[in-house]
Amino acid sequence: MATMIIDAGHGPKTPGKRSPDGALLEFQFNCAVAELLKLYLQQEGIDVFFSHEYGRDVPLWERTAIANRLNADAFVSIHANAYGNNWNEAHGIETFTYPQVGKQTSRLAEQIHHSLVAACGRRDRGIKTANFAVLRETKMPAVLVECGFMTNREEANLLLSNTYRVQCARAISFGVLNWLYFT
Ligand SMILES: [Zn+2]
Repeated sequence: MATMIIDAGHGPKTPGKRSPDGALLEFQFNCAVAELLKLYLQQEGIDVFFSHEYGRDVPLWERTAIANRLNADAFVSIHANAYGNNWNEAHGIETFTYPQVGKQTSRLAEQIHHSLVAACGRRDRGIKTANFAVLRETKMPAVLVECGFMTNREEANLLLSNTYRVQCARAISFGVLNWLYFT
């Protein structure tokens, strides 16, 4: 049986990381999608663990240690994007991997990213690389998704809506399942 780690980025006390009007806290979006994604993957018989907690900001080293200790098959970190601190036009979906990853990780990123873009109908900003700790320190294929911009009014409203959260979670689960079983 496959084991997945779902990581809702940041935590309840992380400073910043919210929409300019304060209506949307990034962690609220991240953990709502994480809950839905957990449900969808469990329905398919996948073992799912969270690396975040509701009561505290779990440090990055602890998140990757959990994933490595459980010897998970994959690690998916869920985020909402921001460009600066004020409302602006930056928008769309982007997915990150660590630089120079293997074929498995590239395929996981492709499956999740294309599924998200297709399901959500937002601008495709592409698959990018970054030296993020959760991507660098995890021993299994790891990707980080940015599901839209909190600093874009239209996308902030989407990120607040349950419909969009369901859409994101379904799309990520679709990508994970394709990666696990069909590619
Ligand atoms: Zn984030």
